[in-house]
Amino acid sequence: MIVLKFGGTSIRNSTMIQRTLEIASKKLPKKVVIVYSASGKTTDHLVTIGEAARNGNKEAYESTLEQIITHHKNICNDLSISQETADDLLEELRHFTQGLLLLKEVTKRSFDSLLSFGEFLSTRLVYAYAMSKNLSVEYHDSRTFLKTDNTFGNAQPNMPRTKELLKQRIGSSSASIHIVQGFIGSTEGGVCTTLGRGGSDYTASLCAAALDAEVLEVWTDVPGIMTSDPRIVSDAQPLSALSYQEAAELAYFGAKVLHPATIQPAVEKAIPVVIKNTNEPELPGTNIGPNHTPTIKALTSKSSLTLVQVHSSRMLNNHGFLSGMFTIFNEHKISVDIVATSEVSITVSLEIAPDDKLLNELSRIGKIIVLQNQTCLCAVGYRVWRNANLLSKVFSAFGKDIPITLISLGGSENNLTIVIPDSKQQIALERLHTVLFG
Ligand code: ADP
Ligand code: ASP
Ligand code: MG
Repeated sequence: MIVLKFGGTSIRNSTMIQRTLEIASKKLPKKVVIVYSASGKTTDHLVTIGEAARNGNKEAYESTLEQIITHHKNICNDLSISQETADDLLEELRHFTQGLLLLKEVTKRSFDSLLSFGEFLSTRLVYAYAMSKNLSVEYHDSRTFLKTDNTFGNAQPNMPRTKELLKQRIGSSSASIHIVQGFIGSTEGGVCTTLGRGGSDYTASLCAAALDAEVLEVWTDVPGIMTSDPRIVSDAQPLSALSYQEAAELAYFGAKVLHPATIQPAVEKAIPVVIKNTNEPELPGTNIGPNHTPTIKALTSKSSLTLVQVHSSRMLNNHGFLSGMFTIFNEHKISVDIVATSEVSITVSLEIAPDDKLLNELSRIGKIIVLQNQTCLCAVGYRVWRNANLLSKVFSAFGKDIPITLISLGGSENNLTIVIPDSKQQIALERLHTVLFG
């Protein structure tokens, strides 16, 4: 059993869709599960529709809906499958979103159902095309096996239940190719949920772990995991191998190429993960597995963060201060990413801008300083950060003109994290890339 996952750009048109089935057919007679995202920019368009409906912006709503309809009808045409393949789903999408537009209300719950249309449309078309080519193929609705809690927009899978259901449905079927939607699940009560943007990678690794796959191949639009995001750093180079921990850290710290939760299910079953380029399938891609090589691997970045510093001389030689502060974050359900402490102050990074209520509560325990528009740069490599020469190389890249607002080292064996203003993201990444990989 092999699990393949194809992202949006990998199925943006009929030629690419055909290619995904060619890639899958080469794996036969092994059983293949294919996890598909929505085609091209469909999910972004669905987000636009949701926002337009909420704001009562009829024009934006109509034009974006038409874009989705035309896109999928064109693909039907180009694949020589009946136009009717997607008709009922597109009609359902129109009715569903007309309701949202009328009410000008899009709850988190309805937003998940709205976004799910992208993956239902793409898999419907691929399935119809595969049938037209007489492949031994079966279509599955992910809501029937990927069971989650009801955290709409970021649902957490119930792994034991999902595993049991996947084994029943796919494990026992005799079809060669199984087509499933990425990103989508449902609560035990059957309400549609999503795993967060980019969540198809996670669906694929859950399927691989549940079905004891021999490998998980994630097919995308770049030749593997690269030394940095090639959209930001033009010199970025593909990496041939990475450890699970290194790949996971890159994903946590913003490398969009993998959803942050992807690696964990694969690690638990020691399933190799390979990142491949759908445009150049003959390239080796990046192999992710248990082995470490002690070299610097890649740089990643995450922007628009907020740093909150709490300063209190009461902290000196006192216990309970940290727990008091984290209790406040916990009560506000805010997750803290990076933490740096001194004897009398503590600075944390947040992905969202803190509201006044949170700041008021924090100001009861100390003086607050808030810094917005911050970018964290993360340099990943297993056990490379004990080397002072490497550290001095890193710091030489910042010079006088890039102010460093926070440093975190030692929190893990794999990464060095440096926070700088958003305005310096591009230049800092380029310079760091040159000193580390140039
Ligand atoms: P897919 O639709 O296939 O899931 P994504 O757009 O989610 O693709 O992820 C692939 C993109 O991730 C690439 O086009 C690239 O711009 C971005 N990316 C960010 N960091 C990296 C990295 N270190 N290596 C490769 N790609 C990266
Ligand atoms: N289609 C979803 C998104 O765009 C899920 C994914 O691509 O993995 O976020
Ligand atoms: Mg993705």
